[in-house]
Amino acid sequence: MAEYDYDLFVIGAGSGGTRASRVAAAHGAKVAVAEEYRVGGTCVIRGCVPKKLLVYGAHFAEDLKDAKRFGWDVPENLGFDWARLRDNVMEEVDRINGAYTDTLTNNGVDIILDRATVTGPHSVKLGDGRDVTAGKILIAVGATPIVPECPGHELGITSNEVFHLDALPKRVLIAGAGYIANEFAGIFNEFGSKVTLINRTDVILRGYDESIRDRLLQISMMKGLDFRFNAAFRGIEKQPDGCLRVSMTGHEPIDVDCVLFATGRSPNTEGLGLESAGVELDDKGAIVVDEDNKSTCDSIYAVGDVTNRVQLTPVAIREGQAFADTMYGNKPHRVDYENIPSAVFSHPPMAGVGLTEAQAKNKFGSVKVYMSDFRPMKNVLAGRNERALYKMVCNAETGQVLGLHMIGPDSPEILQAAAVAVKAGLTKDDFDQTVALHPSMAEELVLLR
Ligand code: NDP
Repeated sequence: MAEYDYDLFVIGAGSGGTRASRVAAAHGAKVAVAEEYRVGGTCVIRGCVPKKLLVYGAHFAEDLKDAKRFGWDVPENLGFDWARLRDNVMEEVDRINGAYTDTLTNNGVDIILDRATVTGPHSVKLGDGRDVTAGKILIAVGATPIVPECPGHELGITSNEVFHLDALPKRVLIAGAGYIANEFAGIFNEFGSKVTLINRTDVILRGYDESIRDRLLQISMMKGLDFRFNAAFRGIEKQPDGCLRVSMTGHEPIDVDCVLFATGRSPNTEGLGLESAGVELDDKGAIVVDEDNKSTCDSIYAVGDVTNRVQLTPVAIREGQAFADTMYGNKPHRVDYENIPSAVFSHPPMAGVGLTEAQAKNKFGSVKVYMSDFRPMKNVLAGRNERALYKMVCNAETGQVLGLHMIGPDSPEILQAAAVAVKAGLTKDDFDQTVALHPSMAEELVLLR
C-alpha cells in the first residue's frame, strides 16, 4: 500500500496551483487539488480576465467618440448597458473555468471542491471532515484584498465584488492608487461614472517609472478623474438618501454611490493551519520559501501570491511549472525574476520592463536615457489630445538597455515583444540597427534619440 493518499496535494486551483497540478500529474505523480471557490483562481474568476474584458468594453467609449473624425456617423447619446457587458463577461469566465477544470481532469488530477487546511507536514483536513495525506503539499492559495480598518468599511467593495455590481454607479470613489485603482478608474470613467481616486500618499503606481506615471496622472486628470492625495481614509457613513459619505484626512468629505477598496492584497494564510507543520510566515503573512519554492517545512512548498514575491499571474505559473518539473519531472530549474515585464491596463495603458530611470541611476550612478514624446497618428486625426511617451534607460558605457517604459495605445502589446530584447541583454545600438516598421507606434523604439 502506498505510504500516502497522494504524491502531491495542492491547495488552491489558481494560476500557480493549476499549472503545478497539471504538470506534476503529466510527469506521473498522483495529484489532488483542493479549491474552496472556483477553479481558475483570482486571474480567471475575478482578476486579469474579466478586468481585461471590461477594459475592452470601456475602450469603445473612446473609439465611438473618435469615429466621427474618421467619417462615421455615430448617433449622440449612445446607450451603454452595464448588465449586458457584465453577464457576457461572466459567461466567458464560466467558459474558461470549464476549460481549466477539463485540463486538470484530462491530466488525471483529482479536483476537490472544498476548503483544505494543513494539519501536519503530510496531512490536510477537508471541509467535510476527511483527512488526506500526501508526500508533498503545495500551497497556492493566493492573496486577498486588504480593506483598511475604518468605521463603515463594510459598506465598500473590493475587486472581488466589482465585477458583479447590479448597476453602474454614477459616482465611484476608489481608495488606493495602484494597479487595480488606476485600471478601474479608467473603466468606470469611460462608462460615464464620476470617479474620485484617493490615496494616502501622493504617489500613483509606485514602482513604475516616474515620467510614465506622471503622464498617466496628467491624462487621467484631463479625462476628468478627480485625485485626492495625502488623504488617509477615515470612514464611510450611509446617508438617508442611500449615498455613501466618505471622510478622509486633509480633504472635505465626498458623497458617492460606490466605494472600491484597491489598497493592496495580502497572502491568504490565515486559518490555513500552517503552524501545525512549522511553516514560517513573514511579517506580512506570506510563506517564506527558498529558491525552489520550499517552505521551512521540508514537505511543504508554496508558489504564487501567497509567497508575496511578484504578485503577477505569469510569475505564479512559472513557479508552478518549475516546482512540478523539479520535483516530479527530473528537470530541475528555477524562475528567473530579472526583467519581468508588467502592464497597467489604464486608459491609456502603460507597461514596463527592467529598471526605472531612478533605479538605474541608483545602481549604476550615471545612465543614458532616450525618450520619445509623441502624439500617435490616430490621436492626431481624432483630435484626441493624448501624447504617448516611450523611455529607454541604458547603461552609459555599454549601451545595454536596462529598462524600457511606455504609456500609450497598445503599449502592453508592444512592450511584450520589446521585453525579449531587454531580457536578451541587447543594446541601444541593436535597436537602432533594426529598420523601423512604418507607420506604427512601435517604430519609435528604434528611432529614439
Ligand atoms: P497595489 O500594491 O498596486 O497598490 C496599492 C495602493 O494602495 C497603493 O496606492 C498604496 O499606496 C495604497 N495602500 C496600500 N495600503 C494601504 C492602506 N492600508 N491604506 C490606504 N492605502 C493603502 O495594489 P492593488 O490592490 O492595486 O493590486 C494588488 C496587486 O495585484 C498588485 O500589486 C499587482 O501585483 C496585482 N495586479 C496586477 C495587475 C496587472 O498586472 N495589470 C492588475 C491588478 C492587480 P502607496 O503606494 O502610496 O503606499
